[in-house]
Amino acid sequence: MTKTETLAALRGRIAHAEAVARRERGATTLIAVSKTRDAAAIQPLIDAGQRVFGENRVQEAQAKWPALIDATPGIELHLVGQLQSNKAEDAVRLFDAIHSVDRPSLVAALARAIGKTGRAPACFIQVDIGDEPQKGGCAITDLPALLAEAQAAGLPIAGLMCVPPAGLDAAPYFALTARLARDHGLTGLSMGMSDDFETAVTLGATHVRVGSALFGPRG
Ligand SMILES: *Cc1c(COP(=O)(O)O)cnc(C)c1O
Repeated sequence: MTKTETLAALRGRIAHAEAVARRERGATTLIAVSKTRDAAAIQPLIDAGQRVFGENRVQEAQAKWPALIDATPGIELHLVGQLQSNKAEDAVRLFDAIHSVDRPSLVAALARAIGKTGRAPACFIQVDIGDEPQKGGCAITDLPALLAEAQAAGLPIAGLMCVPPAGLDAAPYFALTARLARDHGLTGLSMGMSDDFETAVTLGATHVRVGSALFGPRG
């Protein structure tokens, strides 16, 4: 399959899941997660029309994206991996959205970076939905306070993000994340990866983060 065909097939599966759930067609943004892929692997997807990409490391993204962004207008870059506070300013300069806001120290660092750079990436609060602290994400019980803090600091909060536990049915975790977002009046839902994005779309994902289904297995 060409990258154009792979992308069309994936978009078709998203559209079908949207239809099944009686959601508006196009309600879901596909983030092509290009971590570990070099520019030569990314370019065919850009040529096929994909414009929204995700990376999980600031330094890796800094090494490959500025040139790609200069070459193609309209690229949108999302940080989907954990973020150290000392990289907050670099992240704010490069990324259009940050999906891993998960603690007060990072909220403060991002607020400072936004003030300094005048850029304001859309922020998702990552929730530790499966009680796996090593993965990052704020504990469910800490969400109300962190959200209030982020809003008070002026971060543009787009919604919630989750990574459900591996090897378990993701649906209950997606449903719980959707309920938490609704309870807090948030509309954005970053959830679903290669193995479960259709389930996430039927449960209300506004952003799915898909890597290997687009690029092939990671080495
Ligand atoms: C790598 C990664 C993805 C994409 O995973 P695939 O299984 O390759 O689709 C999505 N979200 C996060 C946070 C990731 O680190």
